[in-house]
Amino acid sequence: MTEVQENITNLKKQIPAGVKLVAVSKFKPKELLLEAYEIGFRAFGENYVQELVDKCEALPKDIEWHFIGHLQTNKVKSIAPFVHLIHSVDSFKLLKEIDKQAARNERVIECLIQIYIAKEDSKTGMDKAEYLEMLESEEFKSLKNIKVKGLMGMSTFTDNMDLIREEFRSLKELFEQTRNIQADNFSLDEISMGMSGDWQLAVEEGSTMIRVGSSIFGSRG
Ligand SMILES: *Cc1c(COP(=O)(O)O)cnc(C)c1O
Repeated sequence: MTEVQENITNLKKQIPAGVKLVAVSKFKPKELLLEAYEIGFRAFGENYVQELVDKCEALPKDIEWHFIGHLQTNKVKSIAPFVHLIHSVDSFKLLKEIDKQAARNERVIECLIQIYIAKEDSKTGMDKAEYLEMLESEEFKSLKNIKVKGLMGMSTFTDNMDLIREEFRSLKELFEQTRNIQADNFSLDEISMGMSGDWQLAVEEGSTMIRVGSSIFGSRG
C-alpha cells in the first residue's frame, strides 16, 4: 500500500459508522487522488474551481466531487454540471445562482450552508440571523433546483480545544434548531465539520462529514 492508501485505511478504522470522510485534495496531483481511488475511495473535496474542473475532466467519472472553498457567483456555472455537494454556500445570493445554474443543467444540486462560527474575522459564512431569515423568505421556498442538506462550519485556527468544541457545539445547536423545518428544498441531515486537526472533536460534537486533507495527503504538495 502507498502512504495515501495507508492513511485512508487507518482513518476509516477510526471514524464511526455514519460519519463520512471527504478527502481534501486541493493542490495535490491527480496521481495521489488515483491512489485513493484504487482502494475504492470516491469522495474528494476541492477549494478552487479551475483545479476542480481540470481534475474532473482527467479523472474517472464516478468520483464524487465536493466543493468546499469560497465560491464566486460567476464561477458556479463551471461546476454546476457535475458537482456532488457544495459545502460552502455562504450567501443567499450564491444559493440563488446555484439554483439558476442547476436549472440550466436540469438537475438539483445539493448544498450545505456555511455558518460563521469562528472567533476570527478571516473565516466566511452566513451568520445565524442571516440563515434564519433566508429560511423564512418566500424566495428561498421557491428555489426548486437546490436542496439544502445541512450545515458546514470551520472552527477558529487555535490550540484551544475548549473554544473549538464550543464553536462546533453552536453549529450543532443551530442544526437542531432548524432541523424540523419542512420544505421540498430543505432536509437537514448533514453537519460538515472537522479537519485533520480537530475531526475527533467534531465527531464527538455531532459531525456527520469530516473534511481531511493533510492527514491523508501530507502537508506539502
Ligand atoms: C484545506 C481544507 C480542509 C482540510 O484541511 P486539513 O487541515 O489539511 O485537513 C478542510 N476544509 C476546508 C474548507 C479546507 O479549505
